[in-house]
This record gives sequence, structure tokens and C-alpha cells, in this order.
Amino acid sequence: MSIITGLTRGGVQWTPSFIMAINQTICIGCGRCYKVCPRDVFELIDREDLELDDLDDDAFDDAPGMVMNIRDLMDCIGCEACSRTCPKNCLSHAPQALAA
Ligand code: SF4
Ligand code: SF4
Repeated sequence: MSIITGLTRGGVQWTPSFIMAINQTICIGCGRCYKVCPRDVFELIDREDLELDDLDDDAFDDAPGMVMNIRDLMDCIGCEACSRTCPKNCLSHAPQALAA
């Protein structure tokens, strides 16, 4: 199975690691990931608008207000700038297989 790779300007191969998920139970809605992302991946939403069906409601008691959400997973280029700036380590990434 081949994965998506890129090249630096100097011609060195690197492996993008694409955004997979946000742990919204620990996100503080600071917006740092949104500000550094060069693409349209994120959106800041009201925590009350989250679908809490499969999450533990009690986990949100100490984190009211806004929370980051993934708006368009497929627009990610896998640069990982978002995770470098996140103070809560909310974001998970993975390489992506090339589409057949
Ligand atoms: S990896 Fe890069 S492009 Fe993808 S969501 Fe994070 S900052 Fe945006
Ligand atoms: S940087 Fe981390 S804590 Fe801040 S909004 Fe993004 S995911 Fe949430």
C-alpha cells in the first residue's frame, strides 16, 4: 500500500500526517489551530451545538463556551502546524493511503 508523500524544495521526500480527529472533551476553544492552519479545515463552534450522544456529558462541565470542530477533513495538507500550536494536545494525525 502506498501512502501520500511530498517533496521539500530541496527534493527530500517527507510524509504528511493528516488531521484525523479533535478530542473535543479537552479542547479549550483557544483558536490557535484555526489561526495557523493554511487551509479551511477547522471551524469554531458553540459547545452547546455539539452532538453529545456518544460523549460523556459530564466531561464538558468544566469547559463551557466555544470548541474547535473539523469542518473539512479533506482539505488538510498534513503539515501538522495545528498540533504544534495546540496547548492541550487535542489533535490526532495519520499518514494517508493513496487513493486507488
Ligand atoms: S495538518 Fe496543517 S493543513 Fe491539516 S489541519 Fe493541521 S494545520 Fe491545517
Ligand atoms: S489549539 Fe487545541 S485547544 Fe486550542 S482550539 Fe485548537 S484543538 Fe482546541
